[in-house]
Amino acid sequence: MSRYLGPACRLCRREGMKLMLKGLRCETAKCSIEKRERSMAPGQHGWRRGRSSDYGVRLREKQKVKRYYGLMEKQFMKYFAKAQKGTGNTGQMLLELLERRLDNVIYKLNFAPSRKAARQLVAHGHIYLNGRRVDIPDMLVKIGDKITLKNSDHSRKVVKAQLEANPNFQVQGWLQLDASKPMATVVGLPTRDDVQLAVEEQLVVEFCSR
Ligand code: SF4
Repeated sequence: MSRYLGPACRLCRREGMKLMLKGLRCETAKCSIEKRERSMAPGQHGWRRGRSSDYGVRLREKQKVKRYYGLMEKQFMKYFAKAQKGTGNTGQMLLELLERRLDNVIYKLNFAPSRKAARQLVAHGHIYLNGRRVDIPDMLVKIGDKITLKNSDHSRKVVKAQLEANPNFQVQGWLQLDASKPMATVVGLPTRDDVQLAVEEQLVVEFCSR
């Protein structure tokens, strides 16, 4: 599966907002969005960004979601197709589906500093789901799923170091974390309020339904 290998901060600058792609660095003054001279859109003519067309506004909203979860276009459209098949608000369903991805859950548990690092943790076999090793970051978790670590000192050390590095991290209500083991249980499904991205999902739906 292909993935974006370019600079992460460039994506935030293009969207004009913090997408939190680099872990703890995103919360420091080193963040490009915090630096006035680097917060403009990337490229030679970034400072010239003018008014967007209706198409442009919708495109940017879609790109924000895609980049926030670290997806490529094809993967993103699969989630959109799945959300369309459900009953209810397609935009909300799309975000709720993306929130249930295993890499996102690992990030939301503070097992990894970013979604990208969480994906690597899963892909390298450090994560067990219901007692079975999983290495597929896009698996969707469901209520009752138990997330544990591989029985190795290295896996425990990596995750515990992250938990200690960010002790004030607030785990959302749909996840229950036992930091001493560490292990977690999915006790509910995420809602739109659990998605910490300022995006107008209706515009994403309008863009994808063209
Ligand atoms: Fe985005 Fe983080 Fe880079 Fe700031 S430091 S621009 S939030 S990736």
